[in-house]
Amino acid sequence: MRVQLVAGNWKMNMTGPQACALVQGIAERVDQRPDVDVVVCPPFTAIERVKDELRDSHIKIGAQNMFWLESGAYTGQISPLMLMDLRVDYVIVGHSETRGRFGVPSDELKPVLGYFSETDDTVNRKVKCALFHSIQPILCVGETFEEREAGKTDEVVRTQLTGALRGVEPDEMYGLVVAYEPVWAIGTGHTCGDEEANRVCGTIRQLLADLAGPEPADNIRILYGGSVKASNAKGLLHQPEIDGALVGGASLDAHEFVEIIYGAQREA
Ligand code: PEP
Repeated sequence: MRVQLVAGNWKMNMTGPQACALVQGIAERVDQRPDVDVVVCPPFTAIERVKDELRDSHIKIGAQNMFWLESGAYTGQISPLMLMDLRVDYVIVGHSETRGRFGVPSDELKPVLGYFSETDDTVNRKVKCALFHSIQPILCVGETFEEREAGKTDEVVRTQLTGALRGVEPDEMYGLVVAYEPVWAIGTGHTCGDEEANRVCGTIRQLLADLAGPEPADNIRILYGGSVKASNAKGLLHQPEIDGALVGGASLDAHEFVEIIYGAQREA
């Protein structure tokens, strides 16, 4: 049976001291529950301090992004070697806030989808690079509100998934985690219904089976992300195709995050 995984994406929040205080609050209670895999993804600047804070804990560390080359003239980027140096276990790839582009939907400049012009091609490079360096990618896919309204959810997820996994061998896929994150649910307080989230995660598993065969597909953990909080976690995380959660806002509150982890516990 797949072990549930709950990952906290802290985004651009938490200075070093704030990050240490938060992770202490999480570790105190979570270390009594080694039956759920827990990952925190602090900003790069806090990774080393959080890692040090977690030296006696089973909580793992993830990064929020990564460049796909080992070194070079790429100002501001972080390479897989740098993450390995920090002993990072996971990396979020293709988050909707890094995909997309700036656009001008009305008079003012507003982000249409994300902020950093990530494409399926750059996501693919990052996934391959992370797997090559034994850092587990948490690959995010999901549709916008307009795409859902147009009935294109499955098509969007298929395009993103096949693009991200182009050239990845079936035996490499065991290192992968996928997060279904409908863009309209991220940071909005609107959550996808339990059964619909389960349906899309099942579709993702079928796509993975088509790409890599049933065995890797059965082993890959598929998370749901989008306004998960303590009050809705149990309903989502007890769905058969959902193997955990990628949590943004609620992961910044130790009590709330720990309650989500408790809600992820599979019934025997
Ligand atoms: C996220 O950023 O991946 C996310 C799911 O955010 P939130 O939980 O705040 O919707």
